[in-house]
Amino acid sequence: MQVISDIKEAQILCQKWQDEGESISFVPTMGCLHDGHLSLIDKAKSLADHVVVSIFVNPLQFDDINDLLKYPGTLEDDRSKLAEVDVSLVFIPHASSFYPEGEDNVEQIELGEITSILEGAHRPGHFAGVATVVKRLFKIIQPNFAIFGDKDFQQLMVIKQLVKKFSLDINIIGMPIFRENDGLAMSSRNIHLSKSERKKSAEIYRQLESVKSAIKAIAHPGLADFADLEQSTSKNLIAAGFTPEYVAIRQVDTLLPAKNHDSALVILVAAKIGKIRLIDNILV
Ligand code: AMP
Repeated sequence: MQVISDIKEAQILCQKWQDEGESISFVPTMGCLHDGHLSLIDKAKSLADHVVVSIFVNPLQFDDINDLLKYPGTLEDDRSKLAEVDVSLVFIPHASSFYPEGEDNVEQIELGEITSILEGAHRPGHFAGVATVVKRLFKIIQPNFAIFGDKDFQQLMVIKQLVKKFSLDINIIGMPIFRENDGLAMSSRNIHLSKSERKKSAEIYRQLESVKSAIKAIAHPGLADFADLEQSTSKNLIAAGFTPEYVAIRQVDTLLPAKNHDSALVILVAAKIGKIRLIDNILV
């Protein structure tokens, strides 16, 4: 396993593999690795000759400086986890060389409507930051495959749009959400939860499951049913001690509001418990 911070060096190594006809799967992360990340890496290993994992806490995608400052860093631990699963390259760039023009001067990538709803509405600029970092990472690594989690469902759609917009020849693969035993979606931020917050947090998944069952139980669900379910779920989350930002029943392909049950649906939640913001979703 090679560990490289220098951009040019990483680029040369990946180019060498490509020149030798060896394929590359890429898993971008912000570190503090958990089993969800490792499931992505497992998939990556099954697809290509080399797996590249990046660890980079991208300042551009944080709309809240405190969130950035608090973001957990566990680099030594991450490195030993990655050595155990035996990836080819861990790429850990420094922000100063990744954005040599200075973070405030970066020309960010805008991808339209999909970036301004749901997460985009609550975290202004977040997806422009995500698209910008991923485009630069793709340029350095030049992967054949890039693996992302359904946990960040909207992010996955944004990445697919990015690839389409710039006609990048990269296969984007989405992987199911990896959960704790009680249903809480694994997340690097979970380590900030207090014991009692951690216990309560599984309620998000229970609510998602219950909305999913409710939709399935209605013969022909329509707009009013979806609105009722969104409202009652928000109330349930508040009663359980959360501050919900949104509960949204949306069409899978567009993330536009669900109209009926003919199209595949996804239920998305963002809610705070104490100071920790959690997101989760479930397909219907
Ligand atoms: P992050 O380090 O949070 O930026 O996440 C890196 C990648 O791991 C993203 O593609 C996430 O969607 C994915 N990921 C994060 N949590 C999970 C999870 N619980 N299950 C599956 N993938 C995840």
